[in-house]
Amino acid sequence: MAGMAGMEQQTIQAEPGAPIEIESLCPRCENNGTTRLLMMEIPHFREIVLMAFECPHCGERNSEVQFAGLIGEKGRKYHLRVEPGDLRAINRQVVKSDHATLSVPELEFEIEPGTQKAQLTTVEGILSAAAKNLQQHQEERRKEYPEVAAKIDAFCEKLESCARAEMGFTLEVSDPSGNSYVESYEQDVAKDDRLTMTYFERTKEMSRKMGLKVEEEEPEIKPDDRTTVRTRGELSARAPPLRGATRTRLPS
Ligand SMILES: [Zn+2]
Repeated sequence: MAGMAGMEQQTIQAEPGAPIEIESLCPRCENNGTTRLLMMEIPHFREIVLMAFECPHCGERNSEVQFAGLIGEKGRKYHLRVEPGDLRAINRQVVKSDHATLSVPELEFEIEPGTQKAQLTTVEGILSAAAKNLQQHQEERRKEYPEVAAKIDAFCEKLESCARAEMGFTLEVSDPSGNSYVESYEQDVAKDDRLTMTYFERTKEMSRKMGLKVEEEEPEIKPDDRTTVRTRGELSARAPPLRGATRTRLPS
């Protein structure tokens, strides 16, 4: 898997010490597998927690990135230009959080927040995974809606040809949580002539969607509502809390 392969890339180093291992249920065969929690420092970005699950019984593997409830002060927007034949560009590492919107304007293609789990992958990995997702249920579709299926096939071919850098394209990543990242091969991103990164202020609407506290008139508190309101206040200081460490998910 792309996310797993990312662990071997030299630009990312795990902190010394063994990863934490937790026995957890395999989502595919329901036997016990192992979830490894690994802290990783990504240069020019931040520390992330990579949760990687592996099942010795059926070979199921999946991985997910977590941010321990921390979010950036500002949103981040990346703009990456990939020229045809630039294989180095499609190998750039990408961290995609749950809040990120990814788009390829040339294909009028967009991956909305929450449609793929948070992950550590590459440009190629993102596009291949998207093509794979679209291919799901294609067999049924071919029988019932052959025209739609043909359009999807044609589109997936384009996505895959982007994933292999056979055609040039632009990848845009916009993340109001600031927790997404596109690797630069330059020490100073400002010197990267293919990649730009800009910060932006979150709008109230963006914050609300992320589950953050938004400053506005407090609703009137009725005695019965007090517990709910207090709970909401406590949670709102942070992004949604770290999910259960033993939770595993099917590959997207
Ligand atoms: Zn299994």
